[in-house]
Amino acid sequence: MAKKCIYCGAEISEECVVDFCSKCGKSVWGEKMFNTIIKNMEDARSKGDLVSTNLLETPKKQVSTEVESENFPRY
Ligand SMILES: [Zn+2]
Repeated sequence: MAKKCIYCGAEISEECVVDFCSKCGKSVWGEKMFNTIIKNMEDARSKGDLVSTNLLETPKKQVSTEVESENFPRY
C-alpha cells in the first residue's frame, strides 16, 4: 500500500520516512531543510522510534520559540 503526499496527493514510497513527496517537501522547506528533515527522520527511525509528523516541527526552532513566547493569546 503506497502512502500519499499530504500536500499534492501523489503516491509516495511506503518506505519514505515522511508523508509528503520530495517535490512538495522541497517547495515547503527548501531543499536544504528538506534534506535535513529526511536525515533526522531516518536517524530517528533507525533508532526504532515510531516517528510522528510532530518531529517535523523540531528543525524550525525560530517558529516554535515565537509560538511559545506568544502563548497562543487567541485561545
Ligand atoms: Zn507532493
